Amino acid sequence: MSSRGAHPRHPAPYRYTIVERLYLPLLSGLWVTLRHFVRNFFGRGKTYTINYPEERRLYSPRYRGHHILTTRPDGSLRCVACFLCAAACPAECIHIEAGEHPDLNIEKYPLLYNIDMLRCVFCGYCVDACPEEAIIMSNNHDMAYFNRGQSVVTKDELQKPYAYDESRLGYRPHYPEEQAQHAALRHGLVDLVEEARRQGADSASRTAS
Ligand code: SF4
Ligand code: SF4
Repeated sequence: MSSRGAHPRHPAPYRYTIVERLYLPLLSGLWVTLRHFVRNFFGRGKTYTINYPEERRLYSPRYRGHHILTTRPDGSLRCVACFLCAAACPAECIHIEAGEHPDLNIEKYPLLYNIDMLRCVFCGYCVDACPEEAIIMSNNHDMAYFNRGQSVVTKDELQKPYAYDESRLGYRPHYPEEQAQHAALRHGLVDLVEEARRQGADSASRTAS
């Protein structure tokens, strides 16, 4: 049998303790608020408040913000209107209409490429599905619309020039900055091995002398 005893057949109303009746736990909450207020007021260096939009947090390079349709060096869209992103989209918010490309090697291009940003859940599946790296995400989350129509962004609004600002990129297939970090880490490990070898050789020479 359970140590808590039998389940009560007639549930009794909860009885508040004296401390709870006097609302004393409320004071501890007020104390936390007051403490943060005083700390922020007198020690501005310790404040955690960000004065957005003048100040912005440094976002992860994997942040999934507003989409970007990438372009080829000649300025044309990389998208070949294969519909894979639209098929992968769980929110069904990508609308594409395909046209025949004059270049037979490319076959198709999007006549229309719209994303309904109010339906988008920013999952990044469209980026994962794209075989052409034609759609990536930025770390831009400033999306404000005054009416429903503005939330449907077109390919002209999604298109970015070939050389876009690297610091504004978000979720995408390749992360050159991470590759640079890994390379530095590998070099660091090699340096550690070299250092260990050098120390071993030094101690061996001291022992021999
Ligand atoms: S991020 Fe997700 S929800 Fe938004 S368009 Fe891409 S697949 Fe659809
Ligand atoms: S963005 Fe990529 S997945 Fe979507 S239609 Fe264009 S090429 Fe295909």
